[in-house]
Amino acid sequence: MYSITGLGACQEVGRSGFLLDFGEKFLLDYGLKLNPKGIEYPLDVNANIKAAIISHAHLDHSGYLPYFYTKSEAISFMTQPTLEIAEILWLDSIKIAEFEGLMPRYTKKEVQRTHKYNFISNYKKKMHLSNDNSLEFFDAGHILGSAFVKLTHNDKSFLYTGDFKATETQLHVGADLNVGKLDYVLIESTYGDREHPNRKDVERSLCESVQQTIDNGGWAIIPAFAVGRSQELVDILTGYGVQADIWLDGMGKQVADLYIKHSELIKNPKKLKAGLSQVKWVTGIGDRKKILKKPCVVVTTSGMMKGGPVVGYAQKLMNDPNSKIHLSGYQALETPGRMLQDEGMLPYGPGETPLKVSCKYEKYVLSAHPSQEEMIGVLKKWSPKKIFLVHGDKDVMPVFKNKIKERLGIDTTILELGKKIEFD
Ligand SMILES: [Zn+2]
Ligand SMILES: [Zn+2]
Repeated sequence: MYSITGLGACQEVGRSGFLLDFGEKFLLDYGLKLNPKGIEYPLDVNANIKAAIISHAHLDHSGYLPYFYTKSEAISFMTQPTLEIAEILWLDSIKIAEFEGLMPRYTKKEVQRTHKYNFISNYKKKMHLSNDNSLEFFDAGHILGSAFVKLTHNDKSFLYTGDFKATETQLHVGADLNVGKLDYVLIESTYGDREHPNRKDVERSLCESVQQTIDNGGWAIIPAFAVGRSQELVDILTGYGVQADIWLDGMGKQVADLYIKHSELIKNPKKLKAGLSQVKWVTGIGDRKKILKKPCVVVTTSGMMKGGPVVGYAQKLMNDPNSKIHLSGYQALETPGRMLQDEGMLPYGPGETPLKVSCKYEKYVLSAHPSQEEMIGVLKKWSPKKIFLVHGDKDVMPVFKNKIKERLGIDTTILELGKKIEFD
């Protein structure tokens, strides 16, 4: 009998963590949930873990691993880019916690310790963990280094998708779906209740809007996540030939260097390199002043407008009717980005009072997650005998579960926080 217990990302998006007993005990991801009210952590792991396995670098999947190493001596596995990007994010989250006067749950010392126990695993290289268990990663097409995690125990196999994207995006060719026979699948459900608009159309209308904003004498602000989205936007904007200075602000630069370093994993490395060489990087306050003197494009963290340099730009430009904020990603509930998207307001008044904006704003759906139909197609191809759902909002998951039942008739369980599910 096998079992799986949700430690986080159960009927929510964020703080992914799953304890899987599959011949040996494995920790699949260990991330944080960044909330407007603070940070939420996954449940503690008390089991004797054989290995911790991290699907990709995003903080909601990797951010709590150094804390795990305050107590554990288990080995861990991830891809090389995941380790390098995660390290940037870990160190940054320590800085943010200190800046906000919070006590970080780990320090640089634990980040060092995390390195000590880590083994790098590449795509399509089977690693034998014991006589009966093996591990293999496959490209998940979500961000640089993202992986499907396939565990095999004797003749049974279990696959955890992490976050993935089956179809092509600007930077990735799409996930490698040829993963062999699967018995059990643990799959994300972020967009389990909907379809995405045509990606090429969205990219075009974003670029047209950016150009129009500049031509009207305004600034085109694009809040973006540091990992993946910032680099993709550079590729999209330069590829389209937007006629304006394009500035990048925030952590995106360090991460972009890693995209170049591992460019063999990117769809079109030449194009990305050319794009990155055309943009200007903000190196300090002087550049930010310069930016506000002449209309231009600013791609800047954070993606949901909670903190990061985007706040300063938005405060300066939110009352300029010629300027426009282009939201490019998922906006979580209770974030400034979501407030702008839903109510046309930003909480940037004194004491965080929400103020009505007079600049333009619009949401552009450039998702790095699969749509419902994409996931149904993938699950149909894999045809496992059992499916577990995680990483989706509470009201999205039952919709996805019903869809799987109706279309594929496969036994599907929505994981619940702290509840152990046995299966065989
Ligand atoms: Zn992710
Ligand atoms: Zn995620």
